[in-house]
Amino acid sequence: MTTATTERERAGDPLISVDDVTFGYGEIPVLESVSIDVEPGSFLGLVGPNGSGKSTLLDLMLGLRRPDSGTVSLFGEPAHEFDAGERIGYVAQDATKAARDMPVTVREVVEMGRYPRRLFGRFSTADRRAVEEALEQVGITDLASRRVGRLSGGQRQRVFIARALASEADLLALDEPTVGVDAESREEFYSLIHELNATGLTVILIEHDIGVVTTHATDIACINRQLYFDGNPEEFVETDALSQAYGKDQHVLQHDHR
Ligand code: ADP
Ligand code: MG
Repeated sequence: MTTATTERERAGDPLISVDDVTFGYGEIPVLESVSIDVEPGSFLGLVGPNGSGKSTLLDLMLGLRRPDSGTVSLFGEPAHEFDAGERIGYVAQDATKAARDMPVTVREVVEMGRYPRRLFGRFSTADRRAVEEALEQVGITDLASRRVGRLSGGQRQRVFIARALASEADLLALDEPTVGVDAESREEFYSLIHELNATGLTVILIEHDIGVVTTHATDIACINRQLYFDGNPEEFVETDALSQAYGKDQHVLQHDHR
């Protein structure tokens, strides 16, 4: 943990560095020769058609899977060896859907963000304060005692962000967080993420709504097995990377009906 901090604070070092990574679940690569850096404080929007490897790339970035070839570093360490989980707030695809059946309260979920930091299994004053501040920051203090399963999709989404904030993470990774959330709540949600990024939190967002990504992200990566674009939103909208990447979509969809 201490070494990671030292590495991370070395100015100019990327927070995540993916170098020439190839990965497949079987014989056929899902990702091929992908290289991409995530700079501290940036907001990376990761786009691409269904089945293009976005969630897989995020897994690799967070060290949840190991590449077949190439390397991934996270906070300056080999990603698969990284163990300071409290530095990362990760909301997996469908996490909020799964939370519908969780028999726990909002505050209990947010408290989970403190588990890796807790000493001797006890909650300190600092832990409690961090939980209350996180609830406050995303505007769900009044929902703290409610069952997570009884909330709307948008409210549940905030609970997961609060959990990440409570852990005082340096990186927030969100995989299609607003699926099933109404338009108004989505706007509010992205304003919140935008603000959090402005205060220095590094954000990686997988999102199918290109408009949202080009509005809020500082960097865009467009993938479909390979990297089609990596740069800023202004450049992205001027290239044909999107149609090129999505042009292969038909091909991908024939093999993938998820
Ligand atoms: P995306 O997030 O862009 O929709 P994924 O990374 O989830 O894409 O999936 C990329 C490809 O890998 C798809 O063809 C998908 O079916 C396949 N895939 C994803 N997860 C697994 C898995 N656990 N086992 C086998 N194949 C998988
Ligand atoms: Mg996905």
